[in-house]
Formats: sequence, C-alpha cells, structure tokens
Amino acid sequence: MHTLETLPFDNAFARLPEAFYTRLPPEPLPAPYLVAASQEVAALIGLDAAEVARPEFAEVFAGNALLPGSEPLAAVYSGHQFGMWAGQLGDGRAHLLGEIATGSGWEVQLKGAGPTPYSRFADGRAVLRSSIREFLCSEAMAALGIPTTRALSVVGSDAPIRRETVETAAVVARLAPSFVRFGSFEHWSARNKPDELRALADYVIDRFRPACRAATNPYDALLRDVGRRTGELIARWQAVGFMHGVMNTDNMSILGLTLDYGPFGFMDAFDAGHICNHSDDHGRYSYQSQPQIGHWNLYALGRALAPLIGPAAAVQAAIEESYAPAFESHFMDLMRAKLGLAQALPGDEDFIGETFGLLQQQHPDYTLFFRQLGRLPAQVDDASRAQADAPVRDLLIDRAAGDAWLALWPARLGAEGRPDADRQAAMNAVNPKYILRNWIAESAIRSARAKDFSEVAAVLACLARPFDEQPENERFAAPPPQWATGLSVSCSS
Ligand code: AMP
Ligand code: MG
Ligand code: MG
Repeated sequence: MHTLETLPFDNAFARLPEAFYTRLPPEPLPAPYLVAASQEVAALIGLDAAEVARPEFAEVFAGNALLPGSEPLAAVYSGHQFGMWAGQLGDGRAHLLGEIATGSGWEVQLKGAGPTPYSRFADGRAVLRSSIREFLCSEAMAALGIPTTRALSVVGSDAPIRRETVETAAVVARLAPSFVRFGSFEHWSARNKPDELRALADYVIDRFRPACRAATNPYDALLRDVGRRTGELIARWQAVGFMHGVMNTDNMSILGLTLDYGPFGFMDAFDAGHICNHSDDHGRYSYQSQPQIGHWNLYALGRALAPLIGPAAAVQAAIEESYAPAFESHFMDLMRAKLGLAQALPGDEDFIGETFGLLQQQHPDYTLFFRQLGRLPAQVDDASRAQADAPVRDLLIDRAAGDAWLALWPARLGAEGRPDADRQAAMNAVNPKYILRNWIAESAIRSARAKDFSEVAAVLACLARPFDEQPENERFAAPPPQWATGLSVSCSS
C-alpha cells in the first residue's frame, strides 16, 4: 500500500505526439476540503486507507499539490453534440495527471480543476452538485456491474461558481484505464490527419486491446470491439433503467465505459419516452432512444476510422456485425434474468415485449417492479393469488391488465420448474433494491451544501451493495417523495 508521496505515476498518453494535448497544471482551488472519498477506489490504486484523512489528500485531489511523477495535461478531442458536428472540444475542465503505475494502470483525472486551452468561454470548474452526482453515480454503476469510469474523491471549496444561480466549486478525481472518446478519433479524421488518427488507434490497440493486433485489419477489429462493448453497455443501461442524458460522441468511451456523468437519471415511474436531461428539448437522448443513438454514434466513429479500415461497406459490416447483435443478446439475457427466467425459450421476445407494454401502460416504479416481482411465488392456488401478487399488484393502477400479465408470468416460469427460493435469490442478485435516484442524490447534495457530508457517505455505502437488503437504509429504496416531484437536471454543471 502506498502513501500519497509514494504513489508511482506514469503518463503514457503524454508520450503521444504533442498535438494530442496541452500540458498545464491545474489551477489551485481556494481552501479545499474533503467532501467524500471512496475507500474501494483508493484500494484499487493501492492507496493506503489512512491517506484519505490527511489534509494533503484534499490538496492533491483539488489540484493544489502535484504528486511526484504526474504530468498534468488536457487532451484535445472533437465530437457531435445533439447530432450536429461541434468541431473542436477537448478537456475543457479536466486535467489528466497520468496513470498509477501499479496493477492495471488507472489513469487519474481531475475534473473541475480550472480552465484549459479547450475551455472555450467556460470557467473550467464544476459545481459541488454535479461533482457529488458524478462521484456517487460512478460508484453506484460499478457496484451494479456496469462498465464505468470510477471516482476516488470529491474535494470542495467555498469559491463561488456562477451557473443559473451561484453555487460552489468542487473537483472530482476520476479514474479509468483511458478517457479516450469516439470524438478523439473524429478530431483527427475531421482535420484530415491520417498519421495522428493512426497513432491514436495504435495507442488504444497496443495499450488496451492487444488482441486486435492479430486481426487482418487491427482497426477493423478495434471498431468491432467498440461496437460489441458499446452494445453491451447500452443493454445494461436499458435493463437497469439508466439514462445518460448527453450521449454526444465526445462522451462515448472508446473502452465502452459509462463516461461523463451530467444530467443522467435512473428511471422512477417507467416511461419509455422519459427524457432525463431538461436541456434535451427534442428527446434525442430519451430512454427509448439510447440504443439507436449508440448505433448512430458508432457510425460517427466508423466514418472517422474509415481511412484505416477501408471502403464504407467494410465499416458498415464492422458495425452491423458487432453492435446490434451484442445489444440484443445482452438485453434479452438481462431482461430474462430480471424476470427470473433461467432458460432462453422461443417466445421470450414477445413476453419481454408484453412486460414493457405493461410497464408503459401502468408506469410503475421500474426498480420496485422487478425487485417486488422477486417476492412473488410462481405457483399459488387461485384463492390466495391476489394476496400473493399484492407486492406487484399494488404498484399497478389498472388491476385487470396487471392480473393478465401476472397470469402470463407464472406460466412462463412454469416452463422451467425452478424452485421459488432459487429463482428469488437469482432475481435479487440482478434486480437492485438501491439505485441513485435523483431525489437521493439531491438530498445528499442539500446536506453537503450545509457542510454535512455524512449523507454523501451514507449513500455511497448503501449503493456499494445495491442488491443486498439493508434494513438501516430502507429509506433509500423509496420512490421519489412529494418534495422531489419537480426536480430536474440539465446540462448546467
Ligand atoms: P459535456 O457535454 O459536459 O461533456 O461538455 C462538452 C464540452 O464542454 C467538453 O469539451 C467539456 O470539457 C466542456 N465543458 C463543459 N463544462 C465546462 C466548464 N465549466 N468549463 C470548461 N469547459 C467545459
Ligand atoms: Mg500540445
Ligand atoms: Mg463531456
């Protein structure tokens, strides 16, 4: 285990050509204080648990003190935002410090640590609100088994930050093997720079996807790898009811990670058309649009990689043979598991379609619906049926329509004959009880604004075990309370 001073840093990204980034130190954050830290992530990078409590920890992860060996830089990228080419973007408020040169080489980035040459007219800062949201959601997603960047800490300051209102500043230390985005490739392709494009692709392949090197065309293999992973990622989002909110190509990870937490949301009352980002007027990134947007984004990446892959037909084949098959098979498997089905049978697609039809018609809380379903026995006599089904029936408004579905489900389960206890345990292992609902994030943020950081820690601890019954945390399993009905999140962060 390391102390802050002995954490070994390297920065492979800094060995790419100079044009890929600008070296610059973070801008000091006035009087930083620790808001939250994840001991699990500290352990991932080999940082001793006691280090988190040192005043130096807040200084380092605010960007005020540089660790030996780190080489801070901001990377350049471009991208499509809301379907339109946006040109050059880049790390406008993120400094890559380098990667921890132990174990699997996690890169550490400080988000909100001051302006960079890619900030355009913005301030390079992040507010406490969005920093807590990114921190909690990164760790919640990891605990749900969904590929994601991780978050080590949130460090706050009383420095005022102007958004719609005046808020305060914070810095998130986030980690990933790499923060390279689809837009990192679009950048070089749009500028007609084939050498840089190839250098970036070679960097990603050699460092993270060495198996692609063995393919006839390694870049074709890379695109297929990204297609497959992105398909699986979005299947996982759909199954858990996660909405990213801003699926611009600059927010799409080349490693298939959930990246850039902003106006994300988890589904409360189910609505396939739900738009979690208040700034997304046309619902481009609504829940039901996410799978097709993933596909659209892969075409943007495919066009960028085309000079390395070949004719449009080859690019198209790489995408069509990877993304949709991966999405569909994972989504079906995940939904079967959520429904307690252990085997794939003909007709499952229709049954899952009927299930979403019920959800759309009755809008029950998505998370509660599946968690409660796990409590229902498959076989009961007709006399006790209504009582046995109550945990789910009570979530539905139209009892008759609900009962029709509740008759289909045991029939499908009956085709497998799995004992109830086994099936219930399996369902509880895939249907979370605890997710980062907007209202939970908001209540932790309100406490943190009043300098009570215990609620952030409590939410973090709860969401680290999303599938476990936690009687002491029952309040975090609840759908949005009355006060939270008007909550909205936007791109402002
Ligand atoms: P996003 O949609 O949040 O991923 O951001 C899109 C682009 O705007 C990226 O290049 C960000 O780095 C940049 N950006 C967002 N907010 C800020 C900010 N407060 N200061 C500087 N750049 C920002
Ligand atoms: Mg440079
Ligand atoms: Mg972004």
